[in-house]
Amino acid sequence: MYHRLEDDLASFDAILDQARSMAGAYLETLDQRPAAATLPPDLPAIDLPVRGEGASAVLQRFERDYAALLSGSPGPRYFGFVTGGGTPASLAADWLVSTYDQNTQRNGDTCASTIELQAVDMLRQLLGWPAAWTGACVTGATMANYVGMALARQWVGHHYDRDIAADGVQGLPAIPVFAGSAHSSTLKALSMAGLGRNAVHTLPPLPGREAFDVSVLEQRLRERGDQPSIVVASAGTVNTVDFDDLAAIARLKQRHRFWLHVDAAFGGVAGASEPRRALMAGIEAADSVTVDAHKWLNVPYDCAVAYTAHLPLQVEVFQNHSAYLPAPEPLPDHFLHLTPENSRRFRALPLWMGLLAYGREGYADVVERNCEAALYLSELIAADTRFRLAAPVRLNVVCFAPVGADAQAVAALQRAMHRDGTAYLSPSVLHGEPILRAAICNWRTTKHDIDLAFAALQRLVSR
Ligand SMILES: *Cc1c(COP(=O)(O)O)cnc(C)c1O
Repeated sequence: MYHRLEDDLASFDAILDQARSMAGAYLETLDQRPAAATLPPDLPAIDLPVRGEGASAVLQRFERDYAALLSGSPGPRYFGFVTGGGTPASLAADWLVSTYDQNTQRNGDTCASTIELQAVDMLRQLLGWPAAWTGACVTGATMANYVGMALARQWVGHHYDRDIAADGVQGLPAIPVFAGSAHSSTLKALSMAGLGRNAVHTLPPLPGREAFDVSVLEQRLRERGDQPSIVVASAGTVNTVDFDDLAAIARLKQRHRFWLHVDAAFGGVAGASEPRRALMAGIEAADSVTVDAHKWLNVPYDCAVAYTAHLPLQVEVFQNHSAYLPAPEPLPDHFLHLTPENSRRFRALPLWMGLLAYGREGYADVVERNCEAALYLSELIAADTRFRLAAPVRLNVVCFAPVGADAQAVAALQRAMHRDGTAYLSPSVLHGEPILRAAICNWRTTKHDIDLAFAALQRLVSR
């Protein structure tokens, strides 16, 4: 055995203790460290050493040279993109995932795939979704959207007597995808699925909204006659957390042929709070649904769930068998045959432990507190004449801008906030106007964090 490995094996416990204290130091300073790192212009490349340094020296090297350059993104004032943190239970679980190092397929040699089944089923219960759906963990909503598009493609193929998974899409008529304010990852998913980014036909929004006008969808579907289509609906757009009218879309299924994919990456989690479920009435009619665990569910990266009501189609698309891998059966824990990956991290464990540790009450509390924090921030903004709200706050995202600011001024304020480090905001564009957005998804965030963030905005806006 190489001497460094031999030494590290002998001091395995001490090495883990060292990592544990690095983790502790990071977590303890999460509240004081900048919400986002400011990076030096160029970080150097490193020559691969011939003689290894050993684990302890490398841990120290990372701590010394890089720990200060980490983002504070799991902390309470990182409001960029749609970013969750890790709850204690899910973080502890995630440490164990690497230790256990299970390959979650369905080998009969580990309980990992059973835990994954339990986790996706508990999440389904949390959000009030149909018992008939099955789910599989993937790395993120982008991959869950990809699974959805791949299933939709397979379903459309059957209408043309084509097994697309076997024979490809060559020669088939173009397959239109109707969507409103779909997340850009849907385009990526369509690119990967061979349907093409240009397959999207964008439906106009309702006045002042991000949700699309369902009457226009109905018209388009009518024009399609008997030909199958794909509809991608948003259950939570990233700017205003707007929801397409799933109930109205569901009704169209009685008369028209389409696959309904719902991207509920973070908005779906609002359903953890029962009074909010009405936003998603009609979702039962979906054929495939995306929900992220690493956003509002506060599981560390990377974890999302791809749900579907069409397990056999999923096996058709993702099956992978060979001399040493059993032929696929449509079993909901046959993950090897259900997801883009073959070898898979035990990423369900942090979700499983989080759901059991905090239960329905815990997740409803995070949703409601984050929505209250967003509302509170919007009130502070509305009361200050230097700012304007760019949209009413529906759930946990606040869109706003300095009054009279052009694109440059908005970008400058975003950069100033980044450098200041009190809170991190994303730049965005809403109805053609540059804005800032604060997405509040972290279990730690309090009213005090909102006060600190708003004070920083007030300090920096007038400069
Ligand atoms: C974040 C997000 C995605 C992409 O999710 P990843 O987890 O980053 O792959 C897709 N759709 C919506 C609505 C999102 O908010």
